[in-house]
Amino acid sequence: MTPPAPDKKKTNYRQAWGEAKALMWTHRRTLAIGFALMLLSRAAGFVGPASTKWLMDEVVGKRRFELLWPLALAVGAAALVQAATSFALSQVISVAGQRAITELRRRVHARLLRLPVSFFDETQSGVLINRVMNDAEGIRNLIGTGIIQLVGGVLTAIVALVVLFYLNWQMTVATLLFLALFGAGMAYAFKTLRPVFRERSIITAEVSGRLGQAFGGARVVKVYTAEKREEKVFTLGAHRLFRNIARTITGTSAIGALSTVIIGAIYVILIVFGGRAIISGQMTIGDLFMYVFMVALVAFPVVQIASIGTQITEAFAGLDRIREIMQTPTEDEHDASRQRVRALRGEIAFDSVSFEYRPGIPVLRDVSFNAPAGTTTALVGSSGSGKSTLISLIMAFARPKTGRILVDGEDLASLRLRDYRANLGVVLQDNFLFDGTVLDNIAFSKPGATKDEVLAAARVAHCDEFVRQFPDGYDTVVGERGVKLSGGQRQRVAIARAILSDPRVLLLDEATSSLDSESEQQIKEGLRALRSGRTTFVIAHRLSTIQSADQILVLEHGEIVERGTHGALLRLGGRYRQLYDTQYRAEMDQFINPGEEMVRTE
Ligand code: ADP
Ligand code: MG
Repeated sequence: MTPPAPDKKKTNYRQAWGEAKALMWTHRRTLAIGFALMLLSRAAGFVGPASTKWLMDEVVGKRRFELLWPLALAVGAAALVQAATSFALSQVISVAGQRAITELRRRVHARLLRLPVSFFDETQSGVLINRVMNDAEGIRNLIGTGIIQLVGGVLTAIVALVVLFYLNWQMTVATLLFLALFGAGMAYAFKTLRPVFRERSIITAEVSGRLGQAFGGARVVKVYTAEKREEKVFTLGAHRLFRNIARTITGTSAIGALSTVIIGAIYVILIVFGGRAIISGQMTIGDLFMYVFMVALVAFPVVQIASIGTQITEAFAGLDRIREIMQTPTEDEHDASRQRVRALRGEIAFDSVSFEYRPGIPVLRDVSFNAPAGTTTALVGSSGSGKSTLISLIMAFARPKTGRILVDGEDLASLRLRDYRANLGVVLQDNFLFDGTVLDNIAFSKPGATKDEVLAAARVAHCDEFVRQFPDGYDTVVGERGVKLSGGQRQRVAIARAILSDPRVLLLDEATSSLDSESEQQIKEGLRALRSGRTTFVIAHRLSTIQSADQILVLEHGEIVERGTHGALLRLGGRYRQLYDTQYRAEMDQFINPGEEMVRTE
């Protein structure tokens, strides 16, 4: 349960500032309107304090009642102007800010999904969710009300300070001393508290992530009687959260206490200095009243500067992390210059392909083979020999380190990725289903498909048999990752999904666990229908699949050690024979009617 590492990286402020400037430039018109509104609003804010002086010194002091109504009118009008401008300000700026956040989220998301699979293997999904949701949110402080309020606050404070110095400079110096103290305290508090708040969101994400897994994996938890262990993990998390919250409570109440002390001190100053100044005739009563109001106009921006400083720092950090994602090369960034793929025949060949995930640890070595269009190639070999890796290279999830993959004689690296992938279909051991209906999950491979097309594919894949038993039929919701279906049912949905997309190249990872004989038979039939006429690569665990393959590649430590047909390899008496004797012979003996299995299916 360590916090996501990338967040700890130092922010490149110079780069982020460039990013921020570009962002502000894009929204310059909105920001300009915002500034105009803010200036109006702030100017109107001075009417109140100034009128107090007039009320005290002129109306009350000199009994000039004719000024009462104009004064009241001015104050009322100023209040209206303030109300209207701050309403318009939040309408214009906050809405624009939220729109920009939405747009940035959309861009980050679009970019993320175009990054290579290896990126997703290396980055926790929680971290990625954080990029899309929280880091994008940070820009609110740059183009939203944050920066406008900050500038407005500073301008107001400067004007107010000039007036304060004019009214009584000694009192102002004393007040400023305490305000500076207050500002320093606030800045310190925000600086220390903000990371704690950030940490809170990380802890919350971790605790809820773990909860999700524990609830989702309730069966595993129960079978291994891990309830107590999970309880302990949760308790630890909950307590971390508690300690974090306790710290912020201490922090915020300390801020409250500091504010009270400072306000008290300023009152003391006002009474001591102000009282003496009035008695000595240096200040009028009206001056003192105006002074009090003006002090508030200075104090408020102090808080703002202290808080917005850290918020902008965070916005920069978020932008910096987003920039990193936006600069990570996507899989398809060269697509424009790559060759279009129209009708694919589906011939796949490897030409001395080597591959490694981590430098220096080869996973595939000098792999060469040719799979003519429409044929089936079975991959066999012990666990970890590189079968799945070979398949992911065909899916272009990764690129060979050396050597080439040829598709219809063209280098895969020169083909448009999107075009090429549109010709692929996959059925894996653990097929990922989305939390939607059976129908949605099948139609996922072909968004524009008509219902009839989907149902036809479902029938070929033998989905009908089990779907008919559901009260909601094809509208049955399958649950997260398809948990409400059995493994065999998920497999059949995946087969239907692949049939619907009508791929030229098919990648199969056969289920190792023996399914119940009925669904086994149905899956076999579904796969047979799916495979016919397509170039198929299958990580084979069933003897029948291996026997019916046009060629078998035997992988060992990333190398093809033997190749050929079932019969030829058996006669060879090498590694395949060994595998056959230990793994498949037993299966063979179990067949009631082995003769049928010997028949080639294609
Ligand atoms: P198989 O499918 O034949 O069981 P794999 O192709 O899955 O074998 O794995 C081959 C080797 O590559 C294994 O040693 C495995 O640990 C390693 N490997 C697989 N996937 C990754 C990955 N994403 N990152 C690093 N190493 C990996
Ligand atoms: Mg595998």
